[in-house]
Amino acid sequence: MACRAESPPGDIVRRETLAARAAHHVDPATGAVTVPVHLSTTFEREADGGYPLGYTYARAGNPNRALLEDRLAALEAGAGAACFASGMAAAGAVFHTLATGDHVIAPSDCYHGTAALLRDVFARWGLEASFVDLTDEAQLTAALRPNTGLVWVETPSNPLLKITDVERTAAIAHEAGALCVCDNTWATPMLQRPIETGADAVVHSTTKYVGGHGDLTGGAVVCRDDGELLEGVRRAQSTYGAVPSAFDCWLALRGMRTLHLRMRAHSENAARVAEFLDTHPRVEAVHYPGLPGHPGRETAARQMDGFGGMVSFQVAGGRDEAMRVAAGVRLFTRATSLGGTESLIEHRASIEGPHTRTPQNLLRSSIGLEHADDLIEDLAQALG
Ligand SMILES: *Cc1c(COP(=O)(O)O)cnc(C)c1O
Repeated sequence: MACRAESPPGDIVRRETLAARAAHHVDPATGAVTVPVHLSTTFEREADGGYPLGYTYARAGNPNRALLEDRLAALEAGAGAACFASGMAAAGAVFHTLATGDHVIAPSDCYHGTAALLRDVFARWGLEASFVDLTDEAQLTAALRPNTGLVWVETPSNPLLKITDVERTAAIAHEAGALCVCDNTWATPMLQRPIETGADAVVHSTTKYVGGHGDLTGGAVVCRDDGELLEGVRRAQSTYGAVPSAFDCWLALRGMRTLHLRMRAHSENAARVAEFLDTHPRVEAVHYPGLPGHPGRETAARQMDGFGGMVSFQVAGGRDEAMRVAAGVRLFTRATSLGGTESLIEHRASIEGPHTRTPQNLLRSSIGLEHADDLIEDLAQALG
């Protein structure tokens, strides 16, 4: 395929180089050095009926999507990837590869949309789900059943930033004959490569750090092997058709080019903010795996190359006080989502709905790329 021919030489594996050159593609017609947006819905057939360039119809494949899939697979050390219109569509594609009567184990504080998908959609099709604290190995082994087909990992978790040992969890899942899939949205391949430590696949909401600028919606599944799982995910992609637009793929590739630099900067800023919050008298608890007291710090230090840009904290005085702090920020933006250059803050329980297990005094923050001192000054005035 035309876009794939421009991959960096095969011996280049350093992620910084792969990322920086992610959108590099010399257009043979014009010499343009970055990939153009291919908006075409359909692709010409040869006189013999064949498709020598590999593309037939935009739902089945598009050059921008193919390039994004190729580059994500390289960054995650996977054999192949399938991109979707959202992170939820990507998660749904993984669940679709299971059969009626299969059982899924997911973390008790996984992304609320993932929990809702299992509980409100797939349960009706006979997929069973248990939600347990995956940081506690005893809970995981107790939840395993003969029909467990998948252990879903999210680390750091949302919104409590719990850290699950991917290598250990994947080993336990495999021993029980189940797959292990890790939502790597928060860490990104720059900070954590679950496939290298045993996961069968990785899922992303590219809406977040991969896109990195809060201007696209997208998702991806990257599989370790070119086998049944990838085949099933690709089948869901092309038959259900929850595919990303060419422009969203182009934007995701644009974001990917600076992913390594952004993740480093997000992590540095988040560490500064977490340290500040940790010493503040009106803050009851700070959830950041880089803090010395965090129960998952050791595991995070082992399996991650940085602690990431997400910080959650609990405000003394309960829900009303947390709302007051969120209302008082001047620089932070009150909004959901994460992974953009601008810092966001949100009262998490109220967006998660009636099933929420999130403490009512918890604020979740996506730490952006502003100067850390400006962020700390803003939080200081909001906390009062
Ligand atoms: C946002 C998010 C999702 C869902 O992705 P969408 O692109 O919003 O569908 C899944 N997992 C995690 C960890 C997320 O943060």
